[in-house]
Amino acid sequence: MSETIKYVLDETQIPRFWYNIVADLPRPPEPVLHPATHQPIGPADLEPLFPMALIQQEVSAERSIEIPEPVRDVYRQWRPSPLYRARRLERALDTPARIYYKYEGVSPAGSHKPNTAVAQAFYNKQEGVRRLTTETGAGQWGSALAYAGAIFGLEVKVFMVRVSFDQKPYRKALMEVWGAQCVASPSTETNAGRQILAASPDSTGSLGIAISEAVEVAAQHADTKYALGSVLNHVLLHQTVIGQEALAQFELANDYPDIVIGCTGGGSNFAGIAFPFIGAALRGERKVRVIACEPAACPTLTRGRYAYDFGDTAHLTPLVKMHTLGSTFIPPGFHAGGLRYHGMAPLVSLVQELGLIESRAYTQTACFEAGVQFARAEGILPAPEATHAVRGAIDEALRCKKEGVSRAILFNLCGHGHFDMQAYIDFLAGKLEDRHYDEAELAKSLAALPAA
Ligand SMILES: *Cc1c(COP(=O)(O)O)cnc(C)c1O
Repeated sequence: MSETIKYVLDETQIPRFWYNIVADLPRPPEPVLHPATHQPIGPADLEPLFPMALIQQEVSAERSIEIPEPVRDVYRQWRPSPLYRARRLERALDTPARIYYKYEGVSPAGSHKPNTAVAQAFYNKQEGVRRLTTETGAGQWGSALAYAGAIFGLEVKVFMVRVSFDQKPYRKALMEVWGAQCVASPSTETNAGRQILAASPDSTGSLGIAISEAVEVAAQHADTKYALGSVLNHVLLHQTVIGQEALAQFELANDYPDIVIGCTGGGSNFAGIAFPFIGAALRGERKVRVIACEPAACPTLTRGRYAYDFGDTAHLTPLVKMHTLGSTFIPPGFHAGGLRYHGMAPLVSLVQELGLIESRAYTQTACFEAGVQFARAEGILPAPEATHAVRGAIDEALRCKKEGVSRAILFNLCGHGHFDMQAYIDFLAGKLEDRHYDEAELAKSLAALPAA
């Protein structure tokens, strides 16, 4: 058998519909609450921030939502993304497991994020929006939206978490190449930013703060709307092209995963690969084990509380029920910037509550070790975020070896790490440390959860 095994679909097999797991869940998601009144909000409450088409997707219970042809046309540039069998990694691990990975690093921005950025930019353009604001941590989402803005002719303004802004100048440059404006957050351009800077002038920022800034600017300008790169139902929905393609590719492989694994920051790439498989199981088709892998320094699913919380630090966003570390929680520094969010997607939180998924937390050195082992076997350099999924997959493969059983393991290689070389430099130099969050800070942050 050939060593390189790649399962490719042709363009006509790009999914025609996004898959909405809400239709198959045994109970509906909890309502979204108004930040001031704590009453359930309606579509009109979200109109200052999002175009109506996306609001309708946010609250939809339809199983299949048609992908507009102009969006499919942009997807065609890199979709369907390849599914690989990791034979060389299997050999390096000497495991009987069959390891597969879906590679989302083939998009122009190098991650899964353009799957939703393109859809969001399309609907905003269609509804006459001139400019989008957003936040970004490591810069993956900001660059994905900058790319989508360039494609559909929208201005894009990105608030980038200060610590990444300083550490990752190349992501900012990429956004600017695509015509976007990128400012460090907290900034002096918004009330939310100025308040933080007044209290702590050296603030290194957080995703929660950057969201506050982006939401504030969108709320104050009629021609501007806000775009979020994860967490929300419509974002997870757009990512389901990943899992749907994987289902078709497993048919080509004449196999089916026993275990599906993804890393979780806000939950979108994980939902993208896992929800179509969970849905199939809920509809009585084959069962799968599904594992979410998160950073030990920001352990939302494994240590967070399932409660109503704000999505941002300044408490401008609605309240959603999710696993949360508290909106004031600021994780210690670690390299997987895309996984530093205090909350988890409400739908991912719900499927965990329903017992449909497991979750695990890994330290960053354990993840980089797995990332380097993967790169040496398979050639592709994983994004620091993606190394959490690699760690999870390798651990399961080693368990197969110990138990002497062959299971099929699928994981989402959600992005490449070409813009994250400093992290690999530090790891290879033995300089990477596992910093732990402060238990007292977490307790304080959880104690401050809103009483909803
Ligand atoms: C943004 C990002 C993540 C985290 O976001 P999710 O919504 O949890 O997917 C993970 N991996 C990569 C490569 C990212 O860019």
